[in-house]
Amino acid sequence: MVSRVIPVDQFDLVIFGGTGDLARRKILPGLFRRFCAGQMLPEARIIGAARSDLDTHGYREMIREAIAEFGELSAIDPEQVDQFLQLLSFVKVDALGDEGWAELQSLMGGTGRIEAYYFSVGPSLFGDIAERLQKWGMADADARIVVEKPFGRDLETARALNQTLATYFNEDQIYRIDHYLGKETVQNLMAVRFGNMLFEPLWNSQYVDHIQITVAETVGVGGRGEYYDKSGAMRDMVQNHLMQLLCLIAMEPPSQFSPDAVRDEKLKVIRALDPVLPHHIVRGQYQAEPCNEPENPGYRTEVGNPRSRTESFVALRVEISNWRWAGTPFYLRTGKRMSERASEIRVVFKDTPHSIFGEEAGRHRNVLSIRLQPNEGITLGVTIKEPGPGGMRLIDVPLDMSFAETLDPDDIEHVDAYERLIMDVIRGNQTLFMRGDEVEAAWRWTDPIIEGWQARNDVPKPYETGSDGPTDANELLRREGRSWRKET
Ligand code: NAP
Repeated sequence: MVSRVIPVDQFDLVIFGGTGDLARRKILPGLFRRFCAGQMLPEARIIGAARSDLDTHGYREMIREAIAEFGELSAIDPEQVDQFLQLLSFVKVDALGDEGWAELQSLMGGTGRIEAYYFSVGPSLFGDIAERLQKWGMADADARIVVEKPFGRDLETARALNQTLATYFNEDQIYRIDHYLGKETVQNLMAVRFGNMLFEPLWNSQYVDHIQITVAETVGVGGRGEYYDKSGAMRDMVQNHLMQLLCLIAMEPPSQFSPDAVRDEKLKVIRALDPVLPHHIVRGQYQAEPCNEPENPGYRTEVGNPRSRTESFVALRVEISNWRWAGTPFYLRTGKRMSERASEIRVVFKDTPHSIFGEEAGRHRNVLSIRLQPNEGITLGVTIKEPGPGGMRLIDVPLDMSFAETLDPDDIEHVDAYERLIMDVIRGNQTLFMRGDEVEAAWRWTDPIIEGWQARNDVPKPYETGSDGPTDANELLRREGRSWRKET
């Protein structure tokens, strides 16, 4: 493979919560892969920070195991692991006390390198860490902080968090992560939309019948039950991930691919969203299969709350009130314990105005499918003549742009969303991160939906595990003569 990797400048990265699940599963294995790709110089420093009773040696061994388990590399070179581990150190720090801060300060102060602080801890600690970074002289003007989701649980808490962080850091120092934005296909979506003349003239309500965005998981809430039951699919997935995908699909072309130009356009989309009518929303909660309860528990058993009214599934019909999209519905759905794991956007174009082949030839619509997972890729369904004798019959065939098949596999470097985003933090590029006003606007739209459920005492509709969600979600489209597309 010809390496196109440009090393980033020297940096020091402190990972608060460096012993946690996210750090071990995503952040450190991702940094290791960037190290192997030659993207960081050998003098980079990565400092794990948490309350655990560890020293640097113990921390390195913990991360060695994490790389072996989550490294997602076909072969792991132990020598490279050893070299990478040399970049790591550990400081025992309490985000709520004074322990460890002086040591951290002595490591970080005045090195002249890029300083980044990753808040991979529960959101209740974000303010305390920001405050202590300032108190201990580490919140200087070019320091960067990376903040994990969830960013608030409603407008009020998001606004309060924004204000707290703004006390210590400028907006251009704050990197709010939504890892969906770091996915290869999401960026490819922008390349397809804004790098080709072909699609943009058709990208509006005159030619697009509707758009579907699906993020379906086969897993249940697992070990996150306590958190999830206070959150639900609307807060956990729609307000952030699905909203970001909707913005990228619907936004106007930014004047350039720069952080504020892109984020200004995304914000305009969120502000143009209509309030969602109650009959345009379906909430669901997965149920156990009665004969298979212990292996396949229902939602309420998994979260340990037999009366829970939290949704593990939601489908919505959304409209955007602007010139480009007025009259084109966007259908969003996300759920757990669904029949398949799939994150996909489908742009369904309108019928041709008239069929010259007659109705018996059949009619097909062009569908542009953008798959985020699994098998990232973009497919355009086009109508052709069915080969062979017997008259003119039309069929739908995919023009497939799966990266793995179209491009030379040896020439593709697969970069996980987290590794891309962390390197963007070091490069100082905020394009793929959410701005504070975007997050607040998303909550401003989401809050009345959730408040409406609470006011109506809404009970989610049960759905079977391994299904496509409650049947009402199909009805949402069926009554408008449409249907959710099945996996191609
Ligand atoms: P986790 O496994 O519970 O880890 C929490 C980390 O915070 C641990 O390293 C813990 O270490 C540290 N910590 C807790 N209290 C502390 C304190 N007072 N001072 C210093 N460190 C403290 O959580 P996680 O799953 O990694 O999630 C971290 C953040 O990422 C959360 O905001 C979560 O919502 C977000 N997130 C996680 C995932 C994921 O896949 N896990 C995905 C998306 C977003 P000690 O106990 O040793 O202090």
